[in-house]
Amino acid sequence: MLSLEEIQTLAALVAGPVTAPGAPGYAEDTAAFNLAAVYRPDVALGAMNAADVVAGIQWAAAHNIPIAVQATGHGANSSIEGGLLINTSRMQDLQIDSVERTARIGAGVKWRSLLAASVPLGLVGLHGSSTDVGVVGYTLGGGLPLLGRAYGFAADHVRSFEIVTPDGVLRHVDAEHEPELFRLLRGGKGNFGIVTSLTCNLLPVDEFYGGGIFFPGTDAANVLSTFNRWWPTLPTKAATSIALLRLPDLDFVPPPLRAQFVVHLRFAYPGPQEEAETLLAPMRMVSSPIMDMVGPMSYLDVDMVHFDPQEPLPYEEAGALLHSFDGDAEAAFLAAAGPDSDCPLILIELRPLGGALSLGGVGTDAVSGRDAAFSLLAIGLTAPPIATATTAAIRSLLQAMAPYSTGRTLVNFHGTPGDATDRARAWSPQAYEELATAKSRWDPANLLRFGHTIRAEAAQGPERADRPAPAPPAELS
Ligand SMILES: Cc1cc2nc3c(=O)[nH]c(=O)nc-3n(C[C@H](O)[C@H](O)[C@H](O)COP(=O)(O)OP(=O)(O)OC[C@H]3O[C@@H](n4cnc5c(N)ncnc54)[C@H](O)[C@@H]3O)c2cc1C
Repeated sequence: MLSLEEIQTLAALVAGPVTAPGAPGYAEDTAAFNLAAVYRPDVALGAMNAADVVAGIQWAAAHNIPIAVQATGHGANSSIEGGLLINTSRMQDLQIDSVERTARIGAGVKWRSLLAASVPLGLVGLHGSSTDVGVVGYTLGGGLPLLGRAYGFAADHVRSFEIVTPDGVLRHVDAEHEPELFRLLRGGKGNFGIVTSLTCNLLPVDEFYGGGIFFPGTDAANVLSTFNRWWPTLPTKAATSIALLRLPDLDFVPPPLRAQFVVHLRFAYPGPQEEAETLLAPMRMVSSPIMDMVGPMSYLDVDMVHFDPQEPLPYEEAGALLHSFDGDAEAAFLAAAGPDSDCPLILIELRPLGGALSLGGVGTDAVSGRDAAFSLLAIGLTAPPIATATTAAIRSLLQAMAPYSTGRTLVNFHGTPGDATDRARAWSPQAYEELATAKSRWDPANLLRFGHTIRAEAAQGPERADRPAPAPPAELS
């Protein structure tokens, strides 16, 4: 049982707040973006700096307490019960070198903060669909960026990590120092320690043209088949994806789209408006849009491209990597989720992969999806009355797409991690073997066992036999 004294020992070691259930600040430090995930660690540490992370990990290792980490809560796909949660959201160090075109990014920094500092310098990082996501957690999962076909995965642009490994040592990891760890951290997610900062490349972007077009869902077959013929004609510099949206009647949805079933075409082009408009023209003619929000924009408004929700919601998600998406796949997709189905999912998206995303891979890093043609992601709300229907609809969509699936997933889009076999699907068999071997070496007690971890059952260290009693509701530092 975790005693008050044990928790007080931790509080005495660190600069940041240490809270137990019920204490002021505990709810904020354990809040996840996915409201369906319950985060109830025995103790939360709001780390201020790398020294706090070192102290937290050493304390947990000494007491054999499992450790979870969270920066923004955007990756909350499973619950956390017990253990120590290290919240890195206060670790906001950000240093940009505009000559070298690099950024050193603290564990708590969101893409939005990075862009606020880098865009005025004409530089951007390889963020994904929402800049509300944390740079470090996203990049450890490979990081599928908006501009991925042009530049590759975010992990491809990491120069170094600072990480506290489960032995409580702060290490500098790059191609020369701990090269195995450097390889496996890029795509291996949070299996090998808590990253306190990373340094990555930034890319020059001057002009930006982008946004989304919303077509009536009744035109889904036409829009989808035109999209499928059109996107392979684009240069890799042009980013695009398509989604079926069943939008809720909620405030974050613009009035013309509320409670509507629509097809959402996303388009982004880091280049001149004229070029972008020529590229986009065939899709603009395919149907009459409900809203066309594509145009020249400040890169700081890049979230308008995917239009992801900015407020927490209760949801379930699952992804798959597809090797192809031909006419038969289109038909199967529409039968499962199109206008004539009773599919309740709020988002089903297809992102074309390939281009620079296919470079690298086995033996170089632990990023999956190099060999896939599409990323498929399905998300449904888990609030009544559609919670049960969501789970069933995700399952039947994935079944319908199974003939086109590589059988693998992107770890960032895997959804709820299941048993070891299910979790292994986020990597190639070879990468998974390498990750499992390295996990046994770097984390022999399996302290990092929450969420999407490697072979947790096999590497499981001795559990504390006793479940901790709730500590008194007081902040302890
Ligand atoms: C709205 C939305 C849009 C998204 N769009 C994309 C996208 O376009 N492309 C894409 O690839 N992914 C995308 N994702 C998925 C996202 O990249 C992952 O969920 C990622 O894990 C989020 O990281 P976080 O730090 O923000 O979340 P958190 O919930 O804080 O962390 C999630 C996990 O990341 C790991 N982690 C976080 N910080 C650390 C650390 N310091 N050290 C070690 N491990 C750590 C841990 O495993 C942790 O459990 C999106 C998610 C959402 C909710």
